[in-house]
Amino acid sequence: MQRSSQHSSQQSDTQRLLIVDDDELVGRTLELIAKREGYEARVTCDPDRFLDLVGEWQPDIVAIDLVMPGMDGVQVLAELAKREFRQCVIITSGVGHRVLDAAGRSAREHGLHIAGILPKPFTRDDVRALLNRCGVDDKTETVAEPVGASAEPAIDIEMLRDALANRQFFLEYQPKVHCADGSLAGLEALVRWRHPERGVIYPGSFIEVLEDTELMGELTSQVMDMALAWFSGLNISRDSERPVMLSLNISARCLEDEVLVERIARRCRRHKVDPGQVIFELTETSAMRHPVRSLELLTRLRVMGFQLSIDDFGTGFSSMLQLVRLPFSEIKVDKSFVMSGEQSEESRKVVRSIVELGKSLGLRTTAEGIESQWALDFLRPLGCDFCQGYFISRPVDGDTIRERWNI
Ligand code: C2E
Ligand code: CA
Ligand code: CA
Repeated sequence: MQRSSQHSSQQSDTQRLLIVDDDELVGRTLELIAKREGYEARVTCDPDRFLDLVGEWQPDIVAIDLVMPGMDGVQVLAELAKREFRQCVIITSGVGHRVLDAAGRSAREHGLHIAGILPKPFTRDDVRALLNRCGVDDKTETVAEPVGASAEPAIDIEMLRDALANRQFFLEYQPKVHCADGSLAGLEALVRWRHPERGVIYPGSFIEVLEDTELMGELTSQVMDMALAWFSGLNISRDSERPVMLSLNISARCLEDEVLVERIARRCRRHKVDPGQVIFELTETSAMRHPVRSLELLTRLRVMGFQLSIDDFGTGFSSMLQLVRLPFSEIKVDKSFVMSGEQSEESRKVVRSIVELGKSLGLRTTAEGIESQWALDFLRPLGCDFCQGYFISRPVDGDTIRERWNI
């Protein structure tokens, strides 16, 4: 539901805010603050009228009260999602923050771009901060992945077999920095697929299809070769106290393959990379079919000097039991908690307790999903070791990393 070009050519750059709130006073207050901040603003008490105006007036930002008689805010959000509304959404309400958080999460899962939550009563500064955020965020970010969801045929195993045979996979790297001083601590390799017709496809659209097939081992091999070859060419000190590390994602099921462990070690030797500089990040450890064998293989990797990280910690896939049972050296706090930390007290508590847990078990902790200065400032005093996220750097190609970090 983009604004038509006709509309935008007639208008100045003034952003439009449309508010729906059954409490007229609240709606008017919000409207007034927005106007003072230089926005065009309109307010209505009627959800149906609101939905009509979304089509007619084409606002850049909408503010929705969660609790209204007739149609409630959750239904309005669902309706916006159905209409593929792509602009910024602010949720307002007087209900408790747990309910607000849940509504925000469900709206995000619907593919809406939720800029934030405005609990009532709000101050002018609260409103200003949220409106500003609408201006800077990349709106395409939380929009549902177009590949696969579009009319194009779904990705299947044969397409992936061809892609592997034709070497269409490539890597981007995302830096990880020391929370304390911002210096480079490591680089995580993230795979992408350069599809000849569809352009770049992200792993969220194909890893699941590969999982459980014999092709996963082949992808892992290709990724490792590309990453180790690139990493070994970097100009970084190998024997410093704090060496720059290479993180590789690996599906837990791959590690059931005994040959793979041998292959990993051989590859490192071939590329002259010290295993002590490589971290394997494991997700979905609960999906291991042969826990005993996996434990043995993971232990062997640790004995060879590799580091092991439990990825997405705090989500259903990485549990406390796995953490204690398997020989991990690092915990990665799932990005969902970090990203929602500014709005959610619960999320902040989860992050704090995971960092504490890591410290008490003698593990390094990394927080991912750092999207703001706020997140960095929140994490630093907690004693979290490493930070990673768009605020520090998005994943970028290897040459860009070398230039930016002078390595
Ligand atoms: P992950 O290992 O949790 O990687 C982090 C994901 O979060 C990456 O998505 C990264 O681009 C994204 N990200 C990083 N910082 C931020 C941030 O501040 N905000 C937000 N919203 N997102 C951020 P990507 O590259 O799409 O990868 C998705 C997942 O695919 C990875 O999640 C990982 O589980 C899997 N994956 C990627 N490469 C490989 C691979 O070579 N092998 C395997 N088995 N899995 C891989
Ligand atoms: Ca990872
Ligand atoms: Ca993760």
